[in-house]
Amino acid sequence: QKAEWAKLVNESTVSKDGQHVELAANIGTPEDVKGVLENGGEGVGLYRTEFLYMGRTQLPTEDEQFDSYKAVLERMEGKPVVVRTLDIGGDKELPYLDLPKEMNPFLGFRAIRLCLEEQDIFRTQLRALLRASTFGNLKIMFPMIATLGEFRQAKAILMEEKAKLQAEGVVVSETIELGIMVEIPSTAVMADQFAKEVDFFSIGTNDLIQYTMAADRMNERVSYLYQPYNPAILRLVKMVIDAAHKEGKWAGMCGEMAGDEIAIPILLGLGLDEFSMSASSILQARSQILKLSKAEMNAAIEQLLNMDTAEEVERFVRDMF
Ligand code: PEP
Ligand code: MG
Repeated sequence: QKAEWAKLVNESTVSKDGQHVELAANIGTPEDVKGVLENGGEGVGLYRTEFLYMGRTQLPTEDEQFDSYKAVLERMEGKPVVVRTLDIGGDKELPYLDLPKEMNPFLGFRAIRLCLEEQDIFRTQLRALLRASTFGNLKIMFPMIATLGEFRQAKAILMEEKAKLQAEGVVVSETIELGIMVEIPSTAVMADQFAKEVDFFSIGTNDLIQYTMAADRMNERVSYLYQPYNPAILRLVKMVIDAAHKEGKWAGMCGEMAGDEIAIPILLGLGLDEFSMSASSILQARSQILKLSKAEMNAAIEQLLNMDTAEEVERFVRDMF
């Protein structure tokens, strides 16, 4: 099987009935790019920049960040690279920021919420990204967006930094796409409104499932509620993809669900455009998608969305193959 997958490294990912999808990888550092290319990744769908900030005693400087972003963009040789702005808080702590302990860290002061408040940190990162933007195909993505107001504010700050850089004579790419993670139910529900203003969505199912099911993703005792195949999750995912397509935008997924062999046929049927997963899963996913028909999966969607339980969905997909 490994040998069969290895032959697919330079293939594109096209279903049996001709639907092309992009298989991208989630990375944490520039060193991870090697594995992405070796495994046939067509892009980076999620660069988790938190790692630049972790395991040290102070914030990374603009130049340090610039070097990392430039390295990833260059090593990806023009393939798309979605960089997520700082998503700290929740399970990811930064000791040197000295933030107060919270009762519910996953519902607290994290990610974009922190960046909009601590704007020095946010602006430094955005400047580093904008400066690096001419070295490849950069897309910028904001994490944990819950309201349109947050997106508009974050975008306005990005535009301000872009204007400042240009006034300083720095060349910034004019083709940077700007998107959001859809990982909070309010945003999935409002996806039709967001789709008018963003360039793309990336569905973060790790958090979307935890928030939709109200089940802490770190808590073993409630892990039975962590149900990617629950029709409630599938309906939200469908809303997001449909909303994007209605406005001519693309929708990806960068949560664990994107690389799951039961979820993949469903997501193909729902029309997902980009699947971002750990690099080691890409060839297996490609091999699977080559054998699937999008039309056949699409015809089963209505039925899947109207099932009662996650177990029923899983059984149905297993029986199909
Ligand atoms: C997610 O929430 O699905 C996601 C990809 O982000 P993270 O796992 O970093 O929270
Ligand atoms: Mg998340």
